[in-house]
Amino acid sequence: MSRPVPNPGILDIAPYTPGKTPVPEPGRKVFKLSANETPFGPSPKAIEAFKHVADHLEDYPEGTSRVLREAIGRAYGLDPNRIICGAGSDEILNLLAHTYLSHGDEAISTTHGFLVYPIATMAVGAKNVIAQEKNLTCDVDAILKAVTPKTKLVWLANPNNPTGTYIPFDEVKRLRAGLPSHVLLVLDAAYCDYVSRNDYEMGIELVATTENTVVTHTFSKIHGLAALRIGWMFGPEHIIDAVNRIRGPFNVSTPAMYAAVAAIEDTAHQAMSKQFTETWRNRLTEEIGKLGLKVTPSVANFVLIHFPETGKTSDAADAYLTRRGLVLRALKNYGLPHSLRMTIGTEEANRLVIEGLRDFMAGK
Ligand SMILES: *Cc1c(COP(=O)(O)O)cnc(C)c1O
Repeated sequence: MSRPVPNPGILDIAPYTPGKTPVPEPGRKVFKLSANETPFGPSPKAIEAFKHVADHLEDYPEGTSRVLREAIGRAYGLDPNRIICGAGSDEILNLLAHTYLSHGDEAISTTHGFLVYPIATMAVGAKNVIAQEKNLTCDVDAILKAVTPKTKLVWLANPNNPTGTYIPFDEVKRLRAGLPSHVLLVLDAAYCDYVSRNDYEMGIELVATTENTVVTHTFSKIHGLAALRIGWMFGPEHIIDAVNRIRGPFNVSTPAMYAAVAAIEDTAHQAMSKQFTETWRNRLTEEIGKLGLKVTPSVANFVLIHFPETGKTSDAADAYLTRRGLVLRALKNYGLPHSLRMTIGTEEANRLVIEGLRDFMAGK
């Protein structure tokens, strides 16, 4: 008997594997350091706003996320009419793929790019083309070389996950200038709030001055609202118009919308989190480096730790730390079989990881 058959390309997609559920030794407190979630949670004001909305769950949301677009506009100095909100930036990325890619097209991402990009690309029957990175960092020349007449879109997380590296804004501009004008450049700025480098920018200026670049952002990281699924994009008017035509009319829930407004207005909470992250990013990089392990310099809220291919392997380290309740992210499906990604956690968690890795390397 025949049965329904998925569209071409769908079964070529490797299913997304989220961070594992840990099984530590009895009595160990569990620290989930595998999904780049903030150890601080959201702003208390966001939780308050969320609860407030609970009295009216029978009402459909306002369909354009107007209050949130206006709050984002105030925070970044943007025209709210050029913003779209979505159920996580995941939804936005998929909406962009549906709007601009189809069967036979190509979209470029980098060797260790975010896994949602190939999924979004292949879900619409387009081909995922990989541009090689250099030193675990985006190589603009490699992207430009990968362009063919079929290229329609370039995905670039800056900073990138899971590497934690970034490219300066001059390089982003050079990439834009080198791409054909009909190719959409998607700048994913999920981790931009953690970056403190003078040569970094999330790319808003490029969106404002070109017709072919968008910036996406999320409330899942520094704002601590991953459970609510909320993200946004800033783009040229014609792109906003096109994507709005396929966006679900009520794609963002009211609690998510109002929690996000309160979160983005709590700049003190963001500043505290950024400062803490920077302090511990430096400390973890230094202390783990002292153990003889290589740590890729990160500008985000996580660090990438590299292990030897034999002996003290990443698999052994992962199992060892898991027994102590410290759950890091193995990166085999990101093409980094000898590395672990550690989300910067609470002070207690961070200290325990350093201690755990010290014991592991010492063979204890
Ligand atoms: C976490 C992350 C996001 C955010 O995704 P949401 O769907 O908004 O939770 C986007 N891009 C990258 C690269 C990420 O790591």
